[in-house]
Amino acid sequence: MNILVCISQVPDTTTKISVAPDGKSMDATGVKFILNPYDEFAIEEGLRLREKHTGTVTALTVGGDNAKEILRTALAMGADKAVIIKDAAKADSFTIAKSIADYASSINPDIILLGRQSIDHDSFQMASTLGGLLSIPSISVVSKLEITGTVVSAERDVEGGKEVLEASLPIVISAQKGLNDPRYPKLPDIMKAKQKPIEEITPAAITARVDVVAMDIPATARANKVVGDTDADIAEFVRLLHEEAKVF
Ligand SMILES: Cc1cc2nc3c(=O)[nH]c(=O)nc-3n(C[C@H](O)[C@H](O)[C@H](O)COP(=O)(O)OP(=O)(O)OC[C@H]3O[C@@H](n4cnc5c(N)ncnc54)[C@H](O)[C@@H]3O)c2cc1C
Repeated sequence: MNILVCISQVPDTTTKISVAPDGKSMDATGVKFILNPYDEFAIEEGLRLREKHTGTVTALTVGGDNAKEILRTALAMGADKAVIIKDAAKADSFTIAKSIADYASSINPDIILLGRQSIDHDSFQMASTLGGLLSIPSISVVSKLEITGTVVSAERDVEGGKEVLEASLPIVISAQKGLNDPRYPKLPDIMKAKQKPIEEITPAAITARVDVVAMDIPATARANKVVGDTDADIAEFVRLLHEEAKVF
């Protein structure tokens, strides 16, 4: 089975994000980047499919040079091959999906695995856009996957229950938490992954379809007022809850 796993590099969830001086992008200064957490499930599923059906797992990212780090993680987990499409600008979800679709067309994967969402922009666009661009089915937010011959059976969590869907290969699948239990790379594999080659591809020029015009950090919801514990303080606390916070 020819398995393509798409992974994205995102800011660590504990990183404090600030807006760059242009007012419409993230200031990357001092930001720690990590593998998008949902993409660990996609990599693991790719490795399990290879173990069951034999084949090759290719890990692919679209990004700048520093995104190679997450490809090394995928290699350490067991991916056979790593590819980076060099596009540090990542102008919108469409340009990324188009670059991935162009690459996929050159290797004809049986399955393209993604995470359910990229936790930076949370656009949720990749699975359906890729399916559309490649004219193949896509099933998103999958929590259980079975492939028999060319028949794909996928389970999804829906409000209050589950639904089971069927489609056929080739297909795009986006992984939900719980699809599997991602393996931790072993130290020797991490060391070996540092030496493995990463194929670099320059994408065709693709025009973005959506522009960011402004980005803002939500104002803090906390008033951050500290009151003491005397009777007068408690009376003031009750007044603040009533008149300012308006909780009763
Ligand atoms: C209008 C707009 C402007 C943007 N501008 C910038 C910018 O200036 N700089 C910037 O860094 N980002 C920018 N982004 C973010 C970036 O283009 C994508 O939004 C982001 O990479 C993920 O796309 P998504 O949110 O649709 O993915 P989702 O659909 O939420 O992600 C699902 C899955 O797709 C796969 N995937 C997502 N991104 C990649 C990737 N890059 N490579 C491989 N697989 C991937 C992963 O498996 C991920 O789990 C912008 C986004 C938008 C919508």
